[in-house]
Amino acid sequence: MIRCPECSAEIDVDEDEVEEGEILSCPECESELEVSQIHPVHLNIISEDDNDDEDEEEEEEEEAEDGDKDLIEEEEEEEEDEE
Ligand SMILES: [Zn+2]
Repeated sequence: MIRCPECSAEIDVDEDEVEEGEILSCPECESELEVSQIHPVHLNIISEDDNDDEDEEEEEEEEAEDGDKDLIEEEEEEEEDEE
């Protein structure tokens, strides 16, 4: 019996029927599992982290905000000198 390396759920696949490089999906946690080895079967988790795409989008927004802040700070300093 093959077990999911992510959640240890039993995967309904016969060890003798899988091929190296085959992609299985876990019925419990929906992880995609690549067969990296057979006899015994060893599974690699594919895309175990769904947060990667969200992080990249946040970084792009932060860069744009930093550019605006620099201009505002320079204007405030000039006003203080006049008073
Ligand atoms: Zn699983």
